[in-house]
Amino acid sequence: MSSLAQIVSCLDDYDPDALPVETARAAIRAMIAPIAVNERVAVRAALGRVLGEDVVSPVDVPAHDNSAMDGWAVRGDDLAPAGATRLREIGTSYAGRAFAGTVGAGECVRVMTGAVMPAGTDTVVIQETVQVEGDAIVVPPGQVRGQHMRLAGEDLARGKPALRAGQPVRAAELGLLASLGMAEVVVRRRPRVAFFSTGDELASVGRPLAEGQVYDSNRYTIFGMLKRLGCDVIDLGVVRDDRASLARALADASAAADVVVTSGGVSVGEADFTREVLASLGEVLFWKIAMRPGRPMAVGRLGGALFFGLPGNPVAVMVTFYQFVRDALLALAGRADAFELPTLRVPCETALRKKPGRTEFQRGVLARNAAGEWTVRVTGGQGSGVLRSMSEANCFIVLEHARGGVQPGDLVSVQVMDGLA
Ligand code: AMP
Ligand code: MG
Repeated sequence: MSSLAQIVSCLDDYDPDALPVETARAAIRAMIAPIAVNERVAVRAALGRVLGEDVVSPVDVPAHDNSAMDGWAVRGDDLAPAGATRLREIGTSYAGRAFAGTVGAGECVRVMTGAVMPAGTDTVVIQETVQVEGDAIVVPPGQVRGQHMRLAGEDLARGKPALRAGQPVRAAELGLLASLGMAEVVVRRRPRVAFFSTGDELASVGRPLAEGQVYDSNRYTIFGMLKRLGCDVIDLGVVRDDRASLARALADASAAADVVVTSGGVSVGEADFTREVLASLGEVLFWKIAMRPGRPMAVGRLGGALFFGLPGNPVAVMVTFYQFVRDALLALAGRADAFELPTLRVPCETALRKKPGRTEFQRGVLARNAAGEWTVRVTGGQGSGVLRSMSEANCFIVLEHARGGVQPGDLVSVQVMDGLA
């Protein structure tokens, strides 16, 4: 395994004192080897998981040629090219109850949507276009052989991969697996993530605050973000700002998990023992990222685990998690799709101050304006400790590295926080 220092020194723009967001992301990607352990689970339990191997279709879907519409199944050969065609109805084919006989010249069969095409027929004439006369129908000209039917194997062919390893399982994949008749599926093991907060000032919820204390909120946001990404979590509580406690917690965490996430204690000038303890347990790089919020961050390996030392400020924790840790966890989970957060360009209603030379992630509200168009505005207080700004927001307004301030009406990039899945 190459050392982190070797990996990152190959990147353009590598400067640990002013690292562009994109370079940090690339460096993190380069560190990740996806988890290769699979397990077999019941189909519904696979929701939110990642497929561990290709799913080869054991059947044709649909299994038979069938009608796509309500109407009559006819023989293409019978249809007069120019004039009307009169055909005798000899039976009905329902979805789930096929017509047993064979259709001969001059004959047709009533079919419902999803019904198996009767032997001898190859075309469906929809009921709206047909004139019924007793047990006969009159079909107008202009029909096309093969119309309004679905062919066996048209959706998925037997023996062909229906889904690929690395595909996240959403509602559509559950349905697709069920359509193949599969009761179980092979998925990757979930990433295991141990996390703790650092700080002498931190108090646990449910107790009164002593002078100078703050409640430990980071462990709750980190828990929520990890769970939403489908991780197994190990909560190691609050660790005091002393060498022995930190060393013990880091050793426990890295022995138990694939990834260790901490918050606090990584800013410049902060107790030097953090750096010393991390260095004694593994290889850790301290980065000052050219971004706001979330400038200081530590990234590295502790034993076999990846390590992310996030800043302490509650908003900075969430921003750095979504911009860097999320990426790493999805790659580790084996996701083969492009899971970069999609970015929209929308007009910004508010003026925003911004200096070139760093990426800013302002908390925004994406909504329709009076004219029904999507626009974005910032939430109120944008301080990196104001967690309310995250709670009010439904998106990040991403102000790119090189860009300056924003005037009302200027287009800005927006990352939406919630999606369908
Ligand atoms: P630090 O990076 O440790 O200097 O922390 C920066 C700021 O974030 C300080 O105001 C801390 O009190 C605050 N902070 C650190 N950890 C937490 C936490 N777990 N929950 C809430 N606030 C925190
Ligand atoms: Mg601290």
